[in-house]
Amino acid sequence: MSDFIVSARKYRPITFDNVVGQLSITTTLKNAIENQKLAHAYLFTGPRGVGKTTCARIFAKTINCFNLDESFDPCNECESCLSFNKNRSYNIHELDAASNNSVEDIRSLIEQVRIPPQVGKYSVYIIDEVHMLSSAAFNAFLKTLEEPPPHVVFILATTEKNKILATILSRCQIFDFNRITVDDSVDFLSKIAIKEKIEVNLEALNVIAQKADGAMRDALSFFDQIVSFSGKKISYQNVIDNLNVLDYDYYFRLTDAFAENDIPRALLIFNSILEKGFDGHHFITGLGEHFRNLLVSKDNKTLELLEVGASIKEKYKKQANNSSVNFLFKALQISSNCDINYKNSRNKRLHIELSLLQMCDILKQKEKQEIIKKVVNEKKEKLENEKIVNEKKENLEDKKIEIKKIEIKQNEKIEIKKEEEKKPNIKKSKLSSLIKKREEKKLKKISDFEEKNISELEINKDFNEKDIKNNIEEFANSIKEDENLNVILKSINPVLKENFLIELNVNSNIAEKRVKEKHNKLLEFFRRNLKNNKIELNIKIIKNIEKISQKRLSKIDKYNYLKNKNPKISSMKSMFDLGF
Ligand SMILES: [Zn+2]
Repeated sequence: MSDFIVSARKYRPITFDNVVGQLSITTTLKNAIENQKLAHAYLFTGPRGVGKTTCARIFAKTINCFNLDESFDPCNECESCLSFNKNRSYNIHELDAASNNSVEDIRSLIEQVRIPPQVGKYSVYIIDEVHMLSSAAFNAFLKTLEEPPPHVVFILATTEKNKILATILSRCQIFDFNRITVDDSVDFLSKIAIKEKIEVNLEALNVIAQKADGAMRDALSFFDQIVSFSGKKISYQNVIDNLNVLDYDYYFRLTDAFAENDIPRALLIFNSILEKGFDGHHFITGLGEHFRNLLVSKDNKTLELLEVGASIKEKYKKQANNSSVNFLFKALQISSNCDINYKNSRNKRLHIELSLLQMCDILKQKEKQEIIKKVVNEKKEKLENEKIVNEKKENLEDKKIEIKKIEIKQNEKIEIKKEEEKKPNIKKSKLSSLIKKREEKKLKKISDFEEKNISELEINKDFNEKDIKNNIEEFANSIKEDENLNVILKSINPVLKENFLIELNVNSNIAEKRVKEKHNKLLEFFRRNLKNNKIELNIKIIKNIEKISQKRLSKIDKYNYLKNKNPKISSMKSMFDLGF
């Protein structure tokens, strides 16, 4: 059994053609050798265990081989090749920068670089994990890297290209090494198995390749580990047990439990996983990967992203067909959240169990959501109907408002029309009176009168009885043709009372009648000419005068009348003892 333990070393590739999964890199390197176009410095980057150092060694061996074969592979027979294969060549120098990263380490390397090789043409310096060099060491190294002696080839290797200074990158030919695919790993492992006469199924190798996660070196050491434990017959179960890999089957069964909303079963499966000693975090990341695999199995185009053996692939396809994308997506989200928060959770078991419950609930949630959706849709419909009704109502209201607006406008128009109709009426009446006045007075123009008339309405000017007398005369002069009235008017003695009341006292019924006929005209005349629109007229007969003049007075009456006028008459009467 012990010889299997070293299979990693035993099956380490000795030519570029044996290198697994890096075909483009090995081809390019071979072409360079063939065309004798070697660079002074190379940078090999990529994940650990993918063949960087192996390729560097093969490269060093090849460029130092004395008898390169037709395909420019090392002969593995010459002195140089043999020393390389036995790991005692002086043409190759390996420096692990992770532990030798000081300026002194680099300086001693630079010293060494100057010495030409004793055997072969080239000294190859492999600096592994070159990103670990201190910046001082980098700077010390820079000049040598720029102009190395012609017999020197530098091969810098790193897993973290982003940490390499640009000044280094620009001086190197860069090769990016790929993660080795599961298929390539399985392929290589099965070749070894055949050579070693080990009975193994592909599922088992698949688990090994997956566990190695793209690193061939790891895959080989896992293989050794299982062979040493299980012998020449390796089963899937051997691998699962040995590598502490969680069987796919757990995840398939769990997914079934989620789909059936079977919470007890899900919790029991998880319990059995823990009982087998699996780490909870490992389980939850594996579960996430399972959902991811189911998602890529939904489509034939993405099926090639599934890195599993053929029989498990079929299982994935079957379960993917029974799962909705929505479910897988939600489950993936839940497991991802569980993964992210795992470290911070206090009760890690409960943390995972809660996530499992949530996964069981996804489909139920979906049912619920569908019910909710239905209800929401019904409500929406109802609301929309109400909306339509409301809109109709609103339209009605709007129409009502518009009708009202129109009514108001029409009313306004009518009002305006009325106003407009009124105005000319006023004007007309004023005009007609004006025309008459003009006929009477022939003084002013219509427009003048209008203006005056309007201004009159606003004035209450003071005046006296003399003003009235003058106005009456003026009025009388305007109707000279009516001689009778003219005389009557001129005989009037006007009296001004309070509140612009003008008393026109006449001495006969006829006079009263004639003057009253002209009442309105007189009033208008006074108001206009005296500039006072509060003027009122009171035409009346002074009856005393008429009675005195018209009555046949007795002697006593005459005496009393005279006595009133002159009280001295009474004393005179008694003095002379007069009688009637
Ligand atoms: Zn050789």
